Amino acid sequence: QRHYPVVIAGGGTAGLTVAAQLVNVLDPSRIALIEPNDRHFYQPLWTLVGGGVFPKEESMRDEAEFIPAGVTWIQEYVSAFDPDQNRVALKNGDALTYDYLVVALGIQIDWDKIKGLREALAERNGVCSNYSYETVDRTWENIRSFRGGVAVFTQPSTPIKCGGAPQKIAYLADDHFRRAGVRSRSAIKFFSGTGGIFSVKKYADALTAVCRRKGIETHFQHELVEINHRQKEAVFQSLASGERVSVRYDMIHVTPPMSSPDVIKQSKLAASTGWVEVDQFSLQHVRYSNVFALGDCSNLPTSKTGAAIRKQAPVVVENLVAAMEGRPLESVYDGYTSCPLVTGYGSLILAEFDYQLMPKESFPFDQSRERYSMYALKAYGLPAMYWNGMLRGRM
Ligand code: FAD
Repeated sequence: QRHYPVVIAGGGTAGLTVAAQLVNVLDPSRIALIEPNDRHFYQPLWTLVGGGVFPKEESMRDEAEFIPAGVTWIQEYVSAFDPDQNRVALKNGDALTYDYLVVALGIQIDWDKIKGLREALAERNGVCSNYSYETVDRTWENIRSFRGGVAVFTQPSTPIKCGGAPQKIAYLADDHFRRAGVRSRSAIKFFSGTGGIFSVKKYADALTAVCRRKGIETHFQHELVEINHRQKEAVFQSLASGERVSVRYDMIHVTPPMSSPDVIKQSKLAASTGWVEVDQFSLQHVRYSNVFALGDCSNLPTSKTGAAIRKQAPVVVENLVAAMEGRPLESVYDGYTSCPLVTGYGSLILAEFDYQLMPKESFPFDQSRERYSMYALKAYGLPAMYWNGMLRGRM
């Protein structure tokens, strides 16, 4: 059984960012990173891939390129956490022990919670989702070949990664349909399990105006429960009345329900909600002081985004090192998160806010106004900052 002073479970956005920053302060030979996948994805680009702006290959790089030199890469799945024994079991039967653990497994997409969704995605019949590398190019195929009719976009009631992504793709579809001359013979319907368009009032007001201007119908508290792809019919359940409503579609973009990874849910690290139970300010586990968590798998009460991880990672690194050195944990995360809400090809509302759902904007202008400059930042600036800055431990 191998032992490492620091084990990072999950080498996605959060795991790689923490690893990149930790090697600035710790000898890399003391760190192991567990990540089964040999490819890493910049998922925020998938909105623009679904909208036909970039090929999906642009969002992918080799994982190996971003594992800091000297860090041990264990290319396996975690199969169990045993925090009482400081032990992580792997799918291949091996196990590791640690002094400190950082949990960064991301979010689990529960494709099977929607009856008929997997079958529907396997057929090329108008059903798509930006929520995986395998299905994201199907979105653009559907939008590009749409000749009018009903286009449906869904959002579940569960927490999801990037709360704005389900509506962004509806806005791009609307813009494309107008350019292609098919908008006047189409209806765009956005069905969400949530109670409103966005959690922060300032941006919700702006987005409500965008939907009105574009003529997008919105239906809240409606959860997608079934897809019957042969009849091209989607079944929603009203969360208010329990009633079921069937909607016929010509294309449908699905954002499936999501939850904490099963391996976390089944472990002592989980809160009753399934997410890793950490203190929302220090990111230290509430029962196991040598465990930290960040990113989508954590119970932090903020919107799950890569932008949030940019602010969480330095807090984890500083507090982890303080704990190793027996100092008090002084670094604090304030819940900062950001959602670049693409409202069309060349326009974007940049939402930035904290735990109090108060705007926390970076630029000296009103970010709830749609701007080309913010679209350019999303399409060209942020990907470069991600690959060259964040994943390299430089920001
Ligand atoms: P991930 O990056 O998903 O990484 C989790 C890692 O854990 C993966 O590499 C996985 O292979 C690994 N793993 C899983 N299970 C195991 C296991 N059992 N053992 C070991 N390893 C395991 N964010 C923004 O900031 N801005 C945006 O505009 C934006 N848009 C988005 C649009 C879409 C369509 C999507 C899908 C996401 C978007 N996001 C956006 C969200 C952002 O991509 C995520 O919040 C971020 O990637 C989460 O990082 P993470 O490290 O928690 O999870």
